[in-house]
Amino acid sequence: MRRRIAVSAVVLLLGLAGCTSTKDPAASPSATSPSVSVAPSPSDSPSPSPSPSPSPSASPSPKPTPSPPRPPSPKPTKTTPASGPISCTGTATLNRPRATGTGPGGSILRTGTDAVALTFDDGPDPINTPKILDMLRQCGVKATFCLVGFRARDRPDLVRRIHEEGHTLCNHSWQHLTDLGKRGRDYMLKDLRATNSAILKTVPDAKIAYFRAPGGNFTTEMVQVAKELGMQSIYWHVDPRDWDSSSYGKGSAMVRHIVSSVEGGVRPGSIILSHDNGKPDTITAYRTLLPWLKARFDLIGLPTDTPLP
Ligand SMILES: [Zn+2]
Repeated sequence: MRRRIAVSAVVLLLGLAGCTSTKDPAASPSATSPSVSVAPSPSDSPSPSPSPSPSPSASPSPKPTPSPPRPPSPKPTKTTPASGPISCTGTATLNRPRATGTGPGGSILRTGTDAVALTFDDGPDPINTPKILDMLRQCGVKATFCLVGFRARDRPDLVRRIHEEGHTLCNHSWQHLTDLGKRGRDYMLKDLRATNSAILKTVPDAKIAYFRAPGGNFTTEMVQVAKELGMQSIYWHVDPRDWDSSSYGKGSAMVRHIVSSVEGGVRPGSIILSHDNGKPDTITAYRTLLPWLKARFDLIGLPTDTPLP
């Protein structure tokens, strides 16, 4: 009898703890972290249903879940309505260890502090870049844009807007050749210089302090070339693979995938990879992700005045 009362009390306490926790349920299972590709293995990233893990052995801490363990990966993440301004007013905490590791070729995948950096690659894109810029402005968030040289040349208006709104510029090569690292030092130098020139032609006062290899295919030589041009090479800690529609589908399926993999994988210090060029689902996902992330992390554009550690 006494034992029953004690057990009931524990259950009640656990129940209360669940109610008061500010953690989003989608974020809690650390089992979701393998669902993002951390550093050297972009290929091992998200499986479509990341958390079928009741893992009885892993965590002895009982979960006060009322329902029996159900694999169909419930994503209680509420998605933000598809249009209209977004609001980033919430606050919440999320206790996770800081991101660790290094990217290929000695590239950097974390901010070195608890701040989280959003990076948007392959633009500027005439449709999607303005949309993500609008949302970032609505939330008062700075990000980093890794621009493709010829697109920067073609859309000086967007390069100017990115810079004027306080975001960080990053060189993403001239035309996104994923084998850039195999083309030799001279080619790389020329390519990276041309890209910087295209950006600086529009915003001569900008400092381009970062480089990201197309496809993340860094080599040590490429990282060295970027360094000679004054740029640190950035990889990523979280990759939702928002380009992989053959695995994750398009539309709402992809949006859910992006949201759950970023929420599941982000840690203090993460650099998060996303794409604005031709990726409307990514833009939609950020309507949900931006408020979620802003409530839990300090979101920064990567610093151009001090190098990342
Ligand atoms: Zn890219």
